[in-house]
Amino acid sequence: MSRKVTDKAVANLPVRHVKTVIIGSGFAGLGLAIRLTQQGRNDFLVLERGSDVGGTWRDNTYPGAACDVPSHLYSYSFALNPDWSRSFSKQGEIQQYIQGVAKKYNVLDKHIFDCDVTSARWNSDTSQWEVESTKGSFTADTVVSAVGALCEPALPDIKGITGFEGAVFHSARWNHDADLTGKRVAVIGTGASAIQIVPSIAPMVAHLDVYQRTAPWLLPRMDRPYTRPERLAFKHIPGFQRLSRAAIYAARETQVVGLAKVPALMQAFELIAKAKLRYEVRDRELRAKVTPNFRIGCKRMLISNDYYPALSRDNVDVVTDGVAEVRKNSIVTRDGTEREIDALVVATGFHVTDSPAYNTITGKDGRTLSEVFDDLGQQGYKGSSIANFPNMFFLLGPNVGLGHTSMVYMIESQINYIADALATVDRLGLNTVEVRRDIQDAYNASLRSKLEGSVWNNGGCASWYLDKHGNNTTLWPDFTFEFRRLTKSFDVAAYETSSDNSRNNLKVVTAQ
Ligand code: NAP
Repeated sequence: MSRKVTDKAVANLPVRHVKTVIIGSGFAGLGLAIRLTQQGRNDFLVLERGSDVGGTWRDNTYPGAACDVPSHLYSYSFALNPDWSRSFSKQGEIQQYIQGVAKKYNVLDKHIFDCDVTSARWNSDTSQWEVESTKGSFTADTVVSAVGALCEPALPDIKGITGFEGAVFHSARWNHDADLTGKRVAVIGTGASAIQIVPSIAPMVAHLDVYQRTAPWLLPRMDRPYTRPERLAFKHIPGFQRLSRAAIYAARETQVVGLAKVPALMQAFELIAKAKLRYEVRDRELRAKVTPNFRIGCKRMLISNDYYPALSRDNVDVVTDGVAEVRKNSIVTRDGTEREIDALVVATGFHVTDSPAYNTITGKDGRTLSEVFDDLGQQGYKGSSIANFPNMFFLLGPNVGLGHTSMVYMIESQINYIADALATVDRLGLNTVEVRRDIQDAYNASLRSKLEGSVWNNGGCASWYLDKHGNNTTLWPDFTFEFRRLTKSFDVAAYETSSDNSRNNLKVVTAQ
């Protein structure tokens, strides 16, 4: 990889000023880097804590890792890939795609890898962000956080887990040196990651205990390899791939009606899931154990054709008694049963609404993002800006998450908005832009009223979509094309602005 040019520069400079710092280079940060480059806005750097682009697709290398959104939609609109080998790509192919795009659009030299941002603090005197990282100090006119919601593994707080003597690792930090062949293994968790891990390792291990706290709903995975004629058609027939992408988009978008507006419609999905469960789990006792007790869609709907068959294997047990304690070589459940194991996989998800990264960002009143979120919950404006954090934008900020379709679509919507914001700041000669609190409050009131009727808030489950106050601060509660419309251009009127260090508030005309 032709990177590291910038590393040398950083080593020689105690503080480096750049116009825009982007933190993180997953689909979001990389996409923005490409857009800025295309616009000739070259005075930016991407600070990435990993040693490569890819974000979650670089980090999640667990066996069976694959996307549950079809690849022709789960890719940048400006970099379609006719060569996807199958309808739902595996992690390796997606990571290769992201690496290829970074190379093709020539943005790797704008990256500083292995660069962990340890703090970002707004300085009101200079109207700049002061950014500290493991690769040096920076000042920036604008910071864009593109760290994503699913990047900080959440380790379960289970008594004794640190004293476990075998291999223990999180699904997103898979230890490839730990050979599980012929071992007794436990997986804690039954979410999107676990249901891919379990069928992948079940055939190789001696015994597998799956610790289930909540049974997930499963739908069929309509996955298949693309034939050669299909791939040739994607490549050579003008418009064919775009048409296929549009069809996938439209089909998925219909789910919004049931998820966000009329949850009763989700019963249709529930019927399919129940039929699948009956067909794939013949053992009545096991079927009762893995039958969910909440409305489908409340948690992310999972797709798999091999999870239930894996649970039905002789060498796999589903344990629902609740983990009480981990000992040196075993797990003890609340009923007192002790099960010996050699390795433990924790597939327990991520710090979504309580990310440790929020402690590292300090806004204009001296409060960190965590402190602001502690008071209000995770609130922002169009997922892209937060009051008290001037000249800071967010890719994948509050309430832009989805359960039904491609996050890349939301990311590209936000890229439109943020790129236009940066252009607007330049065009109007603005020194600072900060979303108005009243506008942010009104926006969140509208989100909350939409979410009130959704299956995520009423489906009878606990999920990572809800924060500690019980508010849904993660999901977008409407059609995604509505979000695209809202973020089409930067609505400067919704922002407090200043120019030349003297604050001249613009008159508010409208806020979308
Ligand atoms: P997750 O959906 O948050 O699932 C975590 C699992 O661990 C849940 O079953 C949870 O149980 C359980 N758990 C958590 N803490 C526990 C504890 N202390 N004791 C026992 N069980 C515990 O995490 P994930 O599976 O890593 O998925 C996270 C998100 O990543 C997904 O929702 C999805 O957005 C994304 N993802 C996507 C794909 C894909 O595209 N195929 C694959 C992987 C991940 P409860 O349900 O009871 O809380």
